[in-house]
Amino acid sequence: MLVELIYASEVEDSVSIEEVRTILATSQRNNAAVQVTGALIFNSRFFLQWLEGDRHVVNRTYHRIAADSRHRGPELLSYRESPQREFSRWSMGYMGEGMINQELLLKYSANGEFNPYAMSADAARGLMLDLSRVSVSLTA
Ligand code: FAD
Repeated sequence: MLVELIYASEVEDSVSIEEVRTILATSQRNNAAVQVTGALIFNSRFFLQWLEGDRHVVNRTYHRIAADSRHRGPELLSYRESPQREFSRWSMGYMGEGMINQELLLKYSANGEFNPYAMSADAARGLMLDLSRVSVSLTA
């Protein structure tokens, strides 16, 4: 059974862009091995991540991520069965802050700021899908 899961979290203060590169590399390696796909948005304050794949595997992966000390306050925005993958090309695509232009933010957030905790599930989903059309994976 295929599911998609979207959550938001706050970046721990000590986390550098180098650390995010490490997280991405680990994610891509682990996810590829268990056919999890998805994408990660990072800015200096927040993570927003989409995971999709087999339900058992996505749950296991999420619980591991939620316990990671490099972020805090993971909050599920959306969890649902899905007929198809949206990020089938990416074991974990990366979308940096610079990719989120003001027009996109105004479309999906009331004040034009990237704060996934303030977003509805539909807005978070829409933002990630729009970004996936303009983004490239792998580089942080
Ligand atoms: P290892 O090879 O044991 O570790 C890889 C590197 O990360 C090492 O340098 C290690 O020192 C460091 N590291 C591992 N855990 C921690 C920790 N808790 N605190 C600080 N440093 C640590 N994992 C996935 O498999 N898939 C994902 O999609 C994914 N997304 C993530 C998104 C976010 C926002 C964060 C913060 C983490 C994510 N992770 C993801 C990483 C996950 O939390 C685990 O660290 C990882 O899955 C452990 O896998 P491993 O045992 O193969 O890593």
